Amino acid sequence: MHPAILWRPVKNLDIQCEACSHFCYLKEGEKGKCGVRINQKGRLYTLVKDKIAALNLDPVEKKPLFHFLPGSKTLSLATMGCNFACIFCQNHSLSQPPKKDGTILGENISADSILQLAKEEGALSVSYTYSEPTIFIELVLEVSRKAQVEGIKNILVTNGYQSPKALEELGPYIQAANVDLKSFAECFYREYCQASLKTVLNNLEHMKKLGWWLEITTLVITELNDSPQELKNIARYIQNYLGKETPWHISRYHPSYKLNNPPTPLSTLEKAYEIGKEVGLDYVYLGNVPGHMSESTYCPACGKVVIARRGFTLLEINLKEGKCAFCDYKIAGDFSNLN
Ligand code: SF4
Repeated sequence: MHPAILWRPVKNLDIQCEACSHFCYLKEGEKGKCGVRINQKGRLYTLVKDKIAALNLDPVEKKPLFHFLPGSKTLSLATMGCNFACIFCQNHSLSQPPKKDGTILGENISADSILQLAKEEGALSVSYTYSEPTIFIELVLEVSRKAQVEGIKNILVTNGYQSPKALEELGPYIQAANVDLKSFAECFYREYCQASLKTVLNNLEHMKKLGWWLEITTLVITELNDSPQELKNIARYIQNYLGKETPWHISRYHPSYKLNNPPTPLSTLEKAYEIGKEVGLDYVYLGNVPGHMSESTYCPACGKVVIARRGFTLLEINLKEGKCAFCDYKIAGDFSNLN
């Protein structure tokens, strides 16, 4: 158990956690909705700072980030726990046990050891991913500060439910984020995630102002968020508030955790892809559909393939200093590793 940041005393021994936008009000001995932050004698503690439950080397494309150091490796880490309880969670064995039965597994691995491993493996970044990094923000800050000194970049893969103060804390150390935009309906967020769409939208705009490179992911779930109108609303929001150069990853759902709706048909995903392009987004990708043409990056100006991919593997790169090799159009993102 380690002292946590981002909380305030309220009265007597009651406190409020300010790490995420649930702002849990905690009486003495209570844990927050995430199950990994606890009020002990009027002070907030984290139960996961020294409990790394997953540490893997991934292609950065797996986050997914397609416009950030493409083809590079990222050292991905997570603790258990999440501030959401999505009934379709694709990572529930990591995210949900702390709040269900208090299980918190993991190893104490120092920030120095993590960075040593990243360097040995040639990773250009560390990703805070798999579960929800906001609930282990103390670990994220410790590792990301040191990573920055070492010239290693930091990536957040998140549901976008931080508090504004948490975003300000993270701001200087994070260079890129993949953020879920799970739906464009408040009732979806309320019913399936016990959260609020408006907060996620505010945070996306906040992250943009912080200067992070953003890519957006929508898991398209059969019958829940797959209507053309809803997909159009998401695409329009990205274009109007984040910019048409912001990549949109449309990901295929498979039955998971408490939801047994059928897997998303390819036709629904292809319709979503068309919607994204019709609305005017420059970069739209389908995820979990290996071998599909939409895995590659096309130049918005001349239409030629600038990065050909299959799954997470790069097959061909036609970029020169971040510009299309055919027409010189600037492709949005960080391609500094290819120069
Ligand atoms: S991180 Fe969020 S869910 Fe967890 S205790 Fe704090 S406010 Fe509650």
